[in-house]
Amino acid sequence: MKKRLLYAFGLSLLFISFNGRGQSKDTFYKGAIIDMHVHLFIEEGDNLSAERTNKLEDILAFMPKASIEKAVIITMAQKGNMKDTRLRNDSIISASKRYPSLIPICSVHPMDGADALAEMTRVHNQGVRILKLHPNTQKFDVAAAEVNVVAKKAGELNMVLLFDSYSPWDSDEIGKLILLAASNPTTQFIFAHSGLVNFPQLITIEALKKYPWYKKNIWFDLSAIAPLLGDSPFRDQLVWIIRKIGVEQFLFGSDFPVFTPSESINGVHAMGFTREEEKKIFYTNACRLLQIKTHD
Ligand SMILES: [Zn+2]
Repeated sequence: MKKRLLYAFGLSLLFISFNGRGQSKDTFYKGAIIDMHVHLFIEEGDNLSAERTNKLEDILAFMPKASIEKAVIITMAQKGNMKDTRLRNDSIISASKRYPSLIPICSVHPMDGADALAEMTRVHNQGVRILKLHPNTQKFDVAAAEVNVVAKKAGELNMVLLFDSYSPWDSDEIGKLILLAASNPTTQFIFAHSGLVNFPQLITIEALKKYPWYKKNIWFDLSAIAPLLGDSPFRDQLVWIIRKIGVEQFLFGSDFPVFTPSESINGVHAMGFTREEEKKIFYTNACRLLQIKTHD
């Protein structure tokens, strides 16, 4: 009997592998995933390298392998080139029409002024609900008045703004983004990468929650931060902040092709969330934001 017990114990050790938090793989969420951060190659310069391609077929190939039921496809507008902006946005929209598992994220450049606002209305009329803005790549200051105009317009159109939230050269950027979100309470914001190495600053949001004018309109994606810090000495602080702000505001994203979906999924698993929390991050929070019906 004792021998049998020992044998069973040994077997279970063999089959249970542990992540950094000592949590068994058995507790991981294994259902459908929504990837909220995928870059689609549209034209030269959109790819990372010759080896790491992000064409439509690359995205469609990884989705079933990683249990990704839906993925958003992102493009980024360049300043002063509305022809290119419209081409990019039209490519994203047509890909999402061909493949219903793809959700379109279009883009404008805030410094394009009235043209940017007109483009927002144009893509909105075609069913686009999210716009990507990237202060580093698009080279603009989040505190600029033009950015506030775009944020206000997004609120009027009921659109979500996906903002990259890490700047290597603007240390005030998270403060600026929070201010922008607080002054545009009817606009939903996603802070991509959850501030990356500046994530501790996000605890400000816990204080904001105490004010009735703060409308909880800030969401976060865990792209880049999960594979970089999910299994690191910063993990406990990161998880503490996520739980303080509220797991229900956090979304899964791979940032493909910079990271692969499996690197990003493993990064989230390494954080040691409960299965219920993982389900929210990988699936139900995105369904709530995108107003998609959950299938269980
Ligand atoms: Zn990205």
